[in-house]
Amino acid sequence: MNNDAIVRFAPSPTGGLHLGGVRTVLYNYLYAKQNQGVFIIRIEDTDRNRYVAGAEEYIFECLKWCGLQPDESVENPGEHGPYRQSERKEIYREYAEQLIESGHAYYAFDTPAELDAMRERLTTPENPNPQYDHTTRMYMRNSLSLSKEETDGFLKNNELHVIRIKMPEHETVTFTDMIRGEVHFEAGISDDKVLVKGDGMPTYHLAVVVDDYLMKITHAFRGEEWLPSAPVHILLWRYLGWRDKMPKWAHFPLILGPEGKLSKRDGAKYGFPVYAMNWKDPETGILTEGFREKGFLPEAFINLLALLGWNDGTDKEIYTLDELVESFNIDRVHKGGAHFDYEKAKWFNHEWIKRSTAQRLLPDVKIVLNNNQVQLPDDEKLTRIIDLVKERCSLLTDFYEQTKFFIISPGEIDTASIQPKWSAAKKEFFEEFINKISGLESIHASDLETLFKQLAQEKNIKPGELQLPLRIMLVGGKFGPPVFEIATIIGKEEIIKRINHTLNLLK
Ligand code: GLU
Repeated sequence: MNNDAIVRFAPSPTGGLHLGGVRTVLYNYLYAKQNQGVFIIRIEDTDRNRYVAGAEEYIFECLKWCGLQPDESVENPGEHGPYRQSERKEIYREYAEQLIESGHAYYAFDTPAELDAMRERLTTPENPNPQYDHTTRMYMRNSLSLSKEETDGFLKNNELHVIRIKMPEHETVTFTDMIRGEVHFEAGISDDKVLVKGDGMPTYHLAVVVDDYLMKITHAFRGEEWLPSAPVHILLWRYLGWRDKMPKWAHFPLILGPEGKLSKRDGAKYGFPVYAMNWKDPETGILTEGFREKGFLPEAFINLLALLGWNDGTDKEIYTLDELVESFNIDRVHKGGAHFDYEKAKWFNHEWIKRSTAQRLLPDVKIVLNNNQVQLPDDEKLTRIIDLVKERCSLLTDFYEQTKFFIISPGEIDTASIQPKWSAAKKEFFEEFINKISGLESIHASDLETLFKQLAQEKNIKPGELQLPLRIMLVGGKFGPPVFEIATIIGKEEIIKRINHTLNLLK
C-alpha cells in the first residue's frame, strides 16, 4: 500500500449519481490503482435536509455495476474510518472551537428573520445579493460584534447559533491545481461561510477539510463546481495548522450537454440518460432513466467517461479498465468543459458489444428478453444467436428486436415486399424446398444454402430473387443476419411452419 496516494470520492447521498460523479469516481480509482494507493468512499451526509433515503445504497450499487470497487468504505472498512460524516459528528466540534480560539471563526446568533432583514436592508442595484461578510458582520449578532459577556450568556442559554469562518478582508489565496496550474482568489469576495450549523452538524466546508486531514488524503479530486470553495478550504487548512498536509487538488472539467452544463435535472430533457442507473425519487416517485437500464455495458460506460475530459494524446478510443489504469494520466485531463455526445456514447457501446463474447453478453441479454416477456431458449442456443446478431446492436435493449424472431414466430409478415415479384414458379419452389428439408436428418447453414441454390437452378430462378422472400418468411421483414444462419438456428419444423404460414398469406 502506498500512503502517498490516498484518494477519496465523497458523494452526498442526495439522489441519483450523475455521469460526472461516476467520472470523478473513475479518475480517483485510476489514480489509486496506478499508484498502488488507497481509494476511499466517504459519505458526506451532514446536510440532513438534503439527505435522501436509498441514495447511499444506490451509490454502492453503481460502483459495483461499474466495477470500481473502493478499497475502504462503510461496506469494507479499513484504517481510515468512520466513512460516514454523520458518524464522525463528534470529531468536528473540537476543530471548530480551535478556530474560534485562534480568532478565525466566530459564533453567530442571527435568526432567519434577522438574516432576511439584513439582506433587505442592504440590497441595492449595485449589490443585489448582500452577504454575511467583512462588510456586514459587525452589524449582525455575533461574537465579534457582541461583548464577551453577551456572547457567553447566549451560549450558556443554549441560544441557537452557528459558527462562521472569518474570511480575511484583503488577501489573495493561491494554490496549484494539478490540472489548472496556479489559481488565485480574493478571499474578501467570499462570504463568511457557516462551518457548524444550528443542529451542531458541520457543513461540508469544515467536514471536508477535517476529514481529508484525518483520513490522510493525499490527493483530492473533484468536479470543477467545487473550485469556488477552494479558498475557504485552503484558509481552513492553514488556520488549523495543517497547510503542509493539504492534499494536492485537481478539479475536473464540467460535462457539457447540448445547452451548457449537463445537470442532474437534465435527466429527461434530452432523451438520453444522465444518471448511471435508474433513479426513482422516493418523494415524488419520478423515475429517471440510467445508462444501465438504457442498455449500456459498464465496460463501455467507463470507457466513454474516461474520454470525457482526457485522452492519451493518440487516436486510441477503446480502453479496458486495465488499459486505463495503464494509460491514464491526470496531468492530461483537460481544463475546458467536456462535451457529452449521446451518439458517440452509443458508438462506444456498440464497439463494446461487438468486442464482447456471447458468453459475456448472455446474462444481460437474458435480462432484456425477460423484461420483454420472451421465453428464454437454452443457453447454448441463445449464445449462438447472440454471436450472430451482436454486430447489429448498439444498446443491449436492441437484442430484443434482433433476437426475438429466433425464439418466437414473427407476428407480422411483410408480404407487401414479396407480393410485387411473386409468381406461381416461386410458390412451387418454396413448396419443393419444404419437401426437401423435411427429409433432412439435420440442418446446417452451408448444406441448406447449397440445397436452396441447387433447387433454384433446377427451377431456373435466380437465388437472389428467392432469398428475400425466404428472409421475410422467416423473420417477418427485411432485416437480420445471414438468412441460412437464421434458418439453421430456428430448425426444420419452424422453417416449414413459417414458410407455410407466408404461403397461405400470399394465396
Ligand atoms: N460532497 C461533495 C459532493 O457531493 C464532495 C466534494 C469534494 O469532493 O470535496 O460532491
